[in-house]
Amino acid sequence: MTETSPASTPTDIEMDTRGRRLRFVWADGRRSDYDWEYLRWRCPCATCSGEGEFAGELKDRTELQPEEIEMVDIELVGRYAVKPIWRNGHDTGLYTFRNLRALAEMDNLLS
Ligand SMILES: [Zn+2]
Repeated sequence: MTETSPASTPTDIEMDTRGRRLRFVWADGRRSDYDWEYLRWRCPCATCSGEGEFAGELKDRTELQPEEIEMVDIELVGRYAVKPIWRNGHDTGLYTFRNLRALAEMDNLLS
């Protein structure tokens, strides 16, 4: 486990309800903001993103309903992940800090 890397350790996590974003400050001083809908499309749970033979139910969707992309709360899971709770009750997606940082690097969300 290398979860203690400063690049994947948040020092602050803020749910920005007005901006509809989840904002991270990382221990290496970088910041990244994630749009709620951006995160919802990337929900890593087995139902959304698939597992084994099952491709996941987001694969065939072209749009999401408003209650699916409204984040109502966020829970910390240990020291390695966050779990958003969405308006429609969906709460099985664990977004690890490492994966969130990787998304930020890949999609140029870092400042
Ligand atoms: Zn999901």
